[in-house]
Amino acid sequence: MSRKIAFIGLGAMGQPMAANILRKGTELVVFDTNPARMEPLRDLGATLAASVAEAAEGAQIVITMLPATPHVEQVILGEGGVADVIAPGGIVMDMSTIAPTGTDRIAAACAARGLVFIDAPVGRLVIHAQRGESLFMVGGENDQAFEAVRPLLDKMGTTIHRCGPTGSGIRTKLVNNFMILSIAQITAEGLTLAAKLGLDIAMLKEVNAGTSGTNGQFQFNFATKVLAGDTTPGFTIDLAHKDLTLALEAANAVRIGLPAGAAAHAVLGQARAGDYAGKDFTALLDYAADLAGVAPIRLEQGA
Ligand code: NAD
Repeated sequence: MSRKIAFIGLGAMGQPMAANILRKGTELVVFDTNPARMEPLRDLGATLAASVAEAAEGAQIVITMLPATPHVEQVILGEGGVADVIAPGGIVMDMSTIAPTGTDRIAAACAARGLVFIDAPVGRLVIHAQRGESLFMVGGENDQAFEAVRPLLDKMGTTIHRCGPTGSGIRTKLVNNFMILSIAQITAEGLTLAAKLGLDIAMLKEVNAGTSGTNGQFQFNFATKVLAGDTTPGFTIDLAHKDLTLALEAANAVRIGLPAGAAAHAVLGQARAGDYAGKDFTALLDYAADLAGVAPIRLEQGA
């Protein structure tokens, strides 16, 4: 019996993820409030739905990849939402980065309706999603449900971590993004200082790579984006600000401070007030350079 699988939210990440599932031979029904995001998937054989309800009706598995907590709550628990239309036993897998408290609420509401909820937020960048090389942080102890979604995860990515019970995937994602984004801000400040001191950035990159100061932001994310003159998103400063906000809220809830992360959060908050909001998060480097009165810092391609 053929299964119906729905994919809702076809943005910078969701569209290439869904494309990989389709290219690797699994049928999908897709929905996005922006019809233009669905069109390229038609050519890959997707069925385009006109609403969340149409996408999810009769589905055994529904995947969501949406911007933030309110979108996910609306799509899954809102009137005519996923939980209203799929049959008990259905699996709802949210891959967005949202508040853990939101995940807990949605998981409980799904459980009350006999649905299985899996949190499976995504690590790595858009470029990895395009190549089918994403990493997944999966929360949920239901082995049967995990086995049902595993072939889909395998089509979208290369690495799956089962992090623990429901909600542990999203909590792992928040901690990891907290570290990524704090290090990104430190990297932006370090490179701006280097430019001000007249250092050669290619030389600095090589030195950094050979020491324990090395990090993926300088060596990979900055090197392939802002240092190459490309600040198109990718992962926007707006979404990065959302993730650090979620990390700080999670820290508040367990009564701890994250002072370095709070400083990075404040910088993102200022940066998103203007043109930077929709740029790639590595444009934090351009923002730091702007503030320091330094020309945009770039690396010769291949350096
Ligand atoms: P995006 O803003 O590019 O895409 C979100 C999509 O959801 C858009 O196409 C939008 O039209 C659609 N949408 C919004 N509301 C909807 C609704 N009610 N019904 C159907 N569709 C709706 O965001 P993105 O970059 O793809 O990120 C999605 C999630 O993944 C976010 O939570 C983000 O933090 C996380 N994430 C992003 C990256 C990245 O590098 N971009 C990496 C890992 C995780």
